[in-house]
Amino acid sequence: MKRRYDVVVIGAGPVGSFTAYQLAERGLKVCLIDKKERIGEDSICAGVIGREAFERYDLPADTVLSSINSVSFFSPFGQRLEYEQKNFFAYVVDRDLFDRKLFLRAKKRGVEIFLGQRVSDISGAPYFYTVKSNRQTHNTKAVVVATGIDCRLHEKVGLKPPPQYLYGSQIEIAVPHSPTKLEIHIGRDFAPGSFGWLIPFRKGHAKIGVLLPQTSKKWLKKFVQQRLGINHGFDEKNIRIKAIAYGPVDKSVNGNILLVGEAAGQVKTTTGGGIFYGLLCSEIAVDNLVRTLKDGYGLSEYDITWRSALASELDIGRNLRLIAAKLDDQKVENLFSFVKQNRFWVELLVPRIDFDYHSNVIFFCMKSFGQLLRLGD
Ligand SMILES: Cc1cc2nc3c(=O)[nH]c(=O)nc-3n(C[C@H](O)[C@H](O)[C@H](O)COP(=O)(O)OP(=O)(O)OC[C@H]3O[C@@H](n4cnc5c(N)ncnc54)[C@H](O)[C@@H]3O)c2cc1C
Repeated sequence: MKRRYDVVVIGAGPVGSFTAYQLAERGLKVCLIDKKERIGEDSICAGVIGREAFERYDLPADTVLSSINSVSFFSPFGQRLEYEQKNFFAYVVDRDLFDRKLFLRAKKRGVEIFLGQRVSDISGAPYFYTVKSNRQTHNTKAVVVATGIDCRLHEKVGLKPPPQYLYGSQIEIAVPHSPTKLEIHIGRDFAPGSFGWLIPFRKGHAKIGVLLPQTSKKWLKKFVQQRLGINHGFDEKNIRIKAIAYGPVDKSVNGNILLVGEAAGQVKTTTGGGIFYGLLCSEIAVDNLVRTLKDGYGLSEYDITWRSALASELDIGRNLRLIAAKLDDQKVENLFSFVKQNRFWVELLVPRIDFDYHSNVIFFCMKSFGQLLRLGD
């Protein structure tokens, strides 16, 4: 059976559901298709989202597990630097519930839903696309591909996947010392060129993970057991690993088809966080889709707009990773010592910190600490 829509959105992750919801809110006939039978199950994510994003997009507050107003940074040899704000600047959400709530919001707004349908083909030309799934065929004027790291449709629509991937490995586990602060740990023993995180999300429990260019479980095992000293209750079988897009796609539009969210590589290259950038680009996509369908405007401005918003962030994050890959632990240790001994640095650094935009503080650090870290060596 063929159905006709203004826009077919493929993928009911947070970005796809939010896009479908906004399009329906703007009066378009929209459907949302996902290969999963149920939305909001089995996600692999730390679920940290900045407060500003929460407020900007009126995200579901009843999904918040805990609020963050401080971060402890640990050096390779265990020195600690604290970043603390009077007010909460981020939240940890129950990611399954978060996805489900955004999905239900779209459904309630009148978006037609098709679950358990893997889209396998998209054909046609602007204003007459046919979207085929294993069960149905849908006709539409425009298509939004929000399929996350599953890029099998990209080639079918003449677009390329993100250039590279990192891998997030995470475990949820009882933590004996009941931490209350988000912790970021740096050290080549467990996260070479990157970092590990510990995020308390309910009393005595934390999400613990590492972000690396490879999939092996051994780094997270080292982080949990050797670095954090947690052995009780640790079972390697409970480690979950998922790829994270690293870097933007070359091109995110072809005719009236666009990529959004992780499918377009709209993910922080520093931390691997993809929810806020995905929602931001979804907002830009919706404005462009509405104009295009009304006035025949064309979607190329979507590509230009999101790139101009995020290009410097995505670029500088990649540069930071290239530098971090070469830094030995002693240099990082020296940096921690230097900042601890010269507390005025904290006063200079803190105003430059932004939860979602990291280029300002990274650029400042590269300029200020380049000599100390001997980045030219
Ligand atoms: C360990 C780890 C920790 C993370 N922590 C954070 C964090 O703290 N904060 C943060 O912001 N981000 C974090 N991320 C990244 C974040 O999870 C992703 O960036 C985010 O899920 C991207 O959302 P999305 O809607 O673009 O894609 P997804 O959430 O991946 O949704 C894509 C949807 O498309 C569907 N789909 C795919 N192909 C098809 C098809 N052919 N037909 C039909 N349906 C299809 C899938 O079933 C899925 O439901 C983390 C990632 C990992 C791995």
